[in-house]
Amino acid sequence: MTANHYTKQRRTVLTVLVFSLTLAGPLSAQTKIVPPNNKYSVADDVKLGREASGEVRKELPMLNDNRVDEYVEDIGRKLVAAIPGEFRHSEFQYSFDVVDQKEINAFALPGGPMYLNRGMIEAAKTEGEVAGVMAHEISHVALRHGTAQATKGQKFQIGSVLGQIAGAVIGGTAGSIIAQGSQFGLGAYFLKYGREYETQADLLGAQILARAGYDPREMANMFKTIQAEGGRSGPEWLSSHPDPGNRYNNIIKESQSLRVQGNANSGQFASIRQRLGGMPPAYTAEQIAKGQAQSRTGNTGGTTGTAGRTVRVDPPAAAYRTYQPGDFLRISVPSNWQQFGGQGGVTYAPTAGYFEQDGATAFTHGVQVGTVSGGTGNLQQDTNQLLQNFAKSNPNLRRETNYARDTIGGRQALTTRLTNVSEVTGQPESITLSTTRLRDNSILFVIGVAPQAEVGSYQETFSRVRQQMQLNDR
Ligand SMILES: [Zn+2]
Repeated sequence: MTANHYTKQRRTVLTVLVFSLTLAGPLSAQTKIVPPNNKYSVADDVKLGREASGEVRKELPMLNDNRVDEYVEDIGRKLVAAIPGEFRHSEFQYSFDVVDQKEINAFALPGGPMYLNRGMIEAAKTEGEVAGVMAHEISHVALRHGTAQATKGQKFQIGSVLGQIAGAVIGGTAGSIIAQGSQFGLGAYFLKYGREYETQADLLGAQILARAGYDPREMANMFKTIQAEGGRSGPEWLSSHPDPGNRYNNIIKESQSLRVQGNANSGQFASIRQRLGGMPPAYTAEQIAKGQAQSRTGNTGGTTGTAGRTVRVDPPAAAYRTYQPGDFLRISVPSNWQQFGGQGGVTYAPTAGYFEQDGATAFTHGVQVGTVSGGTGNLQQDTNQLLQNFAKSNPNLRRETNYARDTIGGRQALTTRLTNVSEVTGQPESITLSTTRLRDNSILFVIGVAPQAEVGSYQETFSRVRQQMQLNDR
């Protein structure tokens, strides 16, 4: 099922994507941060990051380990929830993935996708240190430093040099790999953030850490840890995030004006480190550059080949995790699925079953939830309309059953089964579409997708996800 078709709908309400996160209490005496001038739109950040993210996933080996990914996502979620209100962009979708790479590095793309090298987690001494680097990276995203940097540059057309800017924003191995593949040779200009941006990311990072419940001094410690690694494998991060001067002391100083709110430490750090230690060694940048690395199939399965590729993922986990992607929706999904943002809603899918290419997204296994406004009040009629829209970008979509009465989160719903041909695998896939009406006559839809051959182990999951959803639009 491709997801880019939602752009063609009459009006897609992005309510689902709008995070509603509780603000921590007010703080005093902390440094006030003003985001740099930026001529690009927030949507440009999102587009840029999405395209670059597709490149990253093609070029870098993903660890694809549920446990480690969830651990990092959990830290990331807490940090994102602690971004001060004035630096939030509802269009941004922060995501966190671990790259199976040895060098100590992490990078975040405009709009939110973050990649953390396994080597970074292995070098950190505490969870707070991992959180420290992540908070710094999140700050670059929230302050829109990538496109701000481009703003300072030449008259770049967004789009034509997207890859180039992205490569540079990413920096390091990924950046040079991406830059090599693009036609412009101006990468070096963007490779580093300047001192001003580094200082901002340090300070906002410290503020976010404290609001999230981590000691901001841990970030300063992590930078020391990275520096101590020195020539071996540390400098990559430092070269794309140069020390603006007195970095350690400035973070410590800022920390003194901050109150750490609660304790976010999960207590899982040691066991995550142990788990990583039991895996085959991470790839080096050199191996990756030579094309000797590939994403692990690990316990989420993996992908091979290109057009008509094989996608293998584990069946839905028996344990469920709850997400609250918007202020009116709570949803529980199998714990081996991750949350992905998209143009028309949120998708929950195993990492190996979710694809982004050229700004379009597709998933082979999982559930997507979205809303469409402008309903007539007649659910069946509106669902028919929705199906027609889906069919425009999924020409092989076929109805298999009539509408059956069902419920979504205790409300009356209609469910119908369809078949489609996956654009990812070229194989038949089974689609379960359920719809219900929201109070303002918008339609909320839940789409379950699984390959025809595996649908048996997904039907019950789709049903359970629908039944357990909680809607609060009143
Ligand atoms: Zn930085």
